[in-house]
Amino acid sequence: MEELKNCPFCGKPFIFQEITEPGIEVIHENKECQLERFIGWFKSKEQAIKVLNARPIEDALQRQIDDLEVKMKHWKGVLG
Ligand SMILES: [Zn+2]
Repeated sequence: MEELKNCPFCGKPFIFQEITEPGIEVIHENKECQLERFIGWFKSKEQAIKVLNARPIEDALQRQIDDLEVKMKHWKGVLG
């Protein structure tokens, strides 16, 4: 199973918290972070990971960086 990524704001972990009802809660223990302590309730760990690991802007920026690095290597080769 994919690992749950850390908070995109402070870099500290999100924590799974087992509950008596069906599903699972995710909490975040950093009072200085702009996110609330309670992140949310999810049907399953898999659903929480899918939702919380979605970082579309970060992923788009990484693709741009990768593309620019390829172009930079190419032009370094051309220019010597
Ligand atoms: Zn945080």
